Amino acid sequence: MDDLLRLDDQLDADQRLIRDTVRSFVSDRVLPHVGDWFEEAVFPARELAPELGALGLLGMHLRGYGCAGTDAVSYGVACRELEAGDSGLRSFVSVQGSLAMFPIWRYGSDEQKEEWLPRMSAGEAIGCFGLTEPDHGSDPANMRTYAKKDGSDWILNGSKMWITNGSIADVAVVWAQTDEGIRGFVVPTSTPGFSAPEIHRKLSLRASVTSSLYFDDVRLPASAALPEVVGLKGPLSCLSEARFGIVWGVVGAARACLESAVEYARTRVQFDKPIGAFQLTQEKLAWMYVGLAQAQLTALHLGRLKDAGDLEPRQISFGKLANVRAALDIARQARSVLGGNGITLEYPVIRHMNNLESVLTYEGTQEIHTLVLGEALTGLAAYR
Ligand SMILES: Cc1cc2nc3c(=O)[nH]c(=O)nc-3n(C[C@H](O)[C@H](O)[C@H](O)COP(=O)(O)OP(=O)(O)OC[C@H]3O[C@@H](n4cnc5c(N)ncnc54)[C@H](O)[C@@H]3O)c2cc1C
Repeated sequence: MDDLLRLDDQLDADQRLIRDTVRSFVSDRVLPHVGDWFEEAVFPARELAPELGALGLLGMHLRGYGCAGTDAVSYGVACRELEAGDSGLRSFVSVQGSLAMFPIWRYGSDEQKEEWLPRMSAGEAIGCFGLTEPDHGSDPANMRTYAKKDGSDWILNGSKMWITNGSIADVAVVWAQTDEGIRGFVVPTSTPGFSAPEIHRKLSLRASVTSSLYFDDVRLPASAALPEVVGLKGPLSCLSEARFGIVWGVVGAARACLESAVEYARTRVQFDKPIGAFQLTQEKLAWMYVGLAQAQLTALHLGRLKDAGDLEPRQISFGKLANVRAALDIARQARSVLGGNGITLEYPVIRHMNNLESVLTYEGTQEIHTLVLGEALTGLAAYR
């Protein structure tokens, strides 16, 4: 599809190389299979993780420990191209890099970093991030999972829900209440008392593993706690990293939907004309492109702010709210352009559309990000 506003001309040569490399990986390794993965509700993580690692995509914006150390816009471009394949693929990379590796990299001890980061950046070890609980989603401050001191050890009890990569992970970064406040723990999933059953019957993000986590008197050494952070700001800073990836990623999903709709509109003939020659179809396509280009501009602007070290959480909320909503609108419009074919996995559109329903909810729902913007505008917090 024509890059009408020449937005990718804004990328430098390295960023364009990353774009082309990830796009061709997705085209060769993901697009031929992802409809089947979605239908069968599988994600071949063990197979793909070393390939993603070899491409430098795991923890790619982190420095050291085998990570690529790219700028934020490059990380965004990679997320965009991955999510043009499937939101499940981008979720895997986001969780690994931004939610599991980032807290170890930012708040971990030298031993924790040495033990996990090189293997995670290579895709030899998989991580997950446990914050959400069955009864505490939007208000994680009230979480019930508790880590209690026993001598120098910690004893962890509680449960988490909706945890991406949970049952395939080698290590879980788990956030729990302690007597000192909320703390993060690096928990090898082989630790006795840890279990992670997969959540089945999802109709969204089917090519992504989602699990519950249970902690039944999980005994951890003192060295399992992340030493450098106490309080909710720890997990919230990880979510800011991952949400930045979403701001870019959904542009890829939306682009895939628009490309599919344009191609279909040019070739599907009704009433002796391609449906793309009807004004009503053109209006849909034109507005889809407007939404896509605006979302891309937002992503690029936030990427540049992040690279300048100047990106605020409420600006990320703006991007997450605006771009996911735009992507979902584009996916729904694309589905209507494809008519009956819009509901099958022969085309990517309904897969993206269903995936984006999860993306709308995870990492802060659209309502919570709306309240963040409401507070930014009025100075009045309306969360409770
Ligand atoms: C596929 C998938 C993968 C996920 N992966 C992870 C993961 O890897 N790790 C992790 O920790 N979590 C993960 N999550 C959890 C996700 O972050 C939560 O689902 C999300 O934060 C919402 O929590 P909840 O589902 O409990 O909904 P709730 O918080 O119960 O919200 C239900 C509804 O009430 C609204 N609501 C809540 N409070 C307010 C308010 N104050 N004002 C107005 N409306 C409000 C919400 O916006 C929403 O519409 C994942 C979720 C999904 C679906």
